[in-house]
Amino acid sequence: MEKESLGIHSEYACHDVYGALNMPVYHTLAYEFKDAKSMSDAFCGRTDVPDYSRITNPTVINFERIVRSLTGSRDVIAFNSGMAAISNAVMALAQSGQKIVTSRHLFGNTFLLFTDVLRRFGVGTEFCDLTDITALKESIDADTCCIFLEIMTNPQMEVADIRAIADVAHAANIPVIADTTMIPFTHFNAASLGIDVEVLSSTKYFAGGGTSLGGLVIDYGTIEGFDNRMRREMLMNLGAYMNPHAAYMQTLGIETIHARYGTQQRNATAVAEALSSIPGITVNYPGLATNRYHDICVRQFNGNFGAMITFELPSEESCFKFIDSLKMIHRATNLFDNRSLAIHPASTIFGTLSQKQRDEMDISPTLIRLSIGLEHTSDIINDLYQAIKAAI
Ligand SMILES: *Cc1c(COP(=O)(O)O)cnc(C)c1O
Repeated sequence: MEKESLGIHSEYACHDVYGALNMPVYHTLAYEFKDAKSMSDAFCGRTDVPDYSRITNPTVINFERIVRSLTGSRDVIAFNSGMAAISNAVMALAQSGQKIVTSRHLFGNTFLLFTDVLRRFGVGTEFCDLTDITALKESIDADTCCIFLEIMTNPQMEVADIRAIADVAHAANIPVIADTTMIPFTHFNAASLGIDVEVLSSTKYFAGGGTSLGGLVIDYGTIEGFDNRMRREMLMNLGAYMNPHAAYMQTLGIETIHARYGTQQRNATAVAEALSSIPGITVNYPGLATNRYHDICVRQFNGNFGAMITFELPSEESCFKFIDSLKMIHRATNLFDNRSLAIHPASTIFGTLSQKQRDEMDISPTLIRLSIGLEHTSDIINDLYQAIKAAI
C-alpha cells in the first residue's frame, strides 16, 4: 500500500473483545498474567506482552507500529514530548568526556538541553555552521558522539545538505541524529539521506491540531546497541514514555496527515506569495522559488517545504502591533495546528535568553513566525494584510 493508505489501514496486532475499528485507549498501567512463569518472561523481556505502562502499552505500541511501517525503520519509540524524545536519544548516545557537534540554529530547549543540562554531566557541545562542510570536518574528532541537526531550522529556516553531512559523519564513524519536526516523516525518506536516528515533536504535525504532546525516536538500525539501550535503559529508567491517550490522538493524526499537510503547504505557498508582493516585507519560505533553500528542499524533501513562514517587519514595536491587530489568526505558539498561529519568537520562545545568545542564534527582534493552518486561503491572507497595514 502507499503511505496514504498504510497510515489508515495498518492494523493493530491484537483485536479487542468488541472488535473496535479504532484502536482502543488502554488506560491501564498494569496487566494481569495467568501464571508466575509468563509474568517472569514478560518482566525479563523474554516475551513482548505488556507488563507495565511506563514501558509498554497496547495503544502506544499500535502508534509505534504504524510509524514503523510508514518509515521502514527498525524501531520506533514514542515519548511524552518532542523534548523527551530528543533528550532520551542523545543521552543514549553520549557519555561524559564526549561532545555533540551541532549548529547554533537550534530549537530553544534543545539548545538549553545541550548547553546547560548535558554540560553538567560532562557532555560538551561544539557549534559549527552545518551548511559549511569544511567547518563540520574541522569540528569533529574522536570524542564526537553524534552530529545533531534540524532538517529545517526553526525559526531561521536554514536547510543544510544532509547527505553531505552524513557522508562526513559516517566516514568518521559518527551517527547523525536529525530533528525532523518541520517536515512530516511521511513525506520524505530520512534513511536515504543518511540519517541514523530521527527525533521529532509529534506534537506538531501528528497531533492533528494541537491536541496532545508527543515525541518520536525513529531508529533506522545503523547504530550498534542503540535500540537496546533506548528500550532497556532510557525508557525504563527515565520514564518518559508516551501516554495512551496521546497515542490515540496521534494515531488519528496520522490518518489525516496527507490531507492536512497538503492543504497547509498549499496555503503556506499562497500566503508566502501574497506577503512577498507587499513592498518592504521580506518573506522567508523555502517553497518560494527565489528562496536560497528551495532547490535543496526539492531534492531532499521531495518538494516539501513545510507550513511555517517567517517575515520581517520594520521594528519590534511594529511586530507587537501586528500581533495585537490579528483578528482570526491566533496569538499562540505551536506549529502545524489546524488554526493559523502567529508569534514573535524573540520576545517569547527565545525571550529568556540573553541578547547575546539570541544574536548568536540569529533570532531577529523584528521577525514574525507564522504557522499556516487549514482555513480558506483568502481568510488567512486578508487577516495578515489588515494586521500588517495596522502595524506599519
Ligand atoms: C516543538 C519542537 C520541539 C519540542 O517538542 P515538544 O513536543 O514541544 O517537546 C523540538 N524541536 C522542534 C524543531 C520543535 O519545533
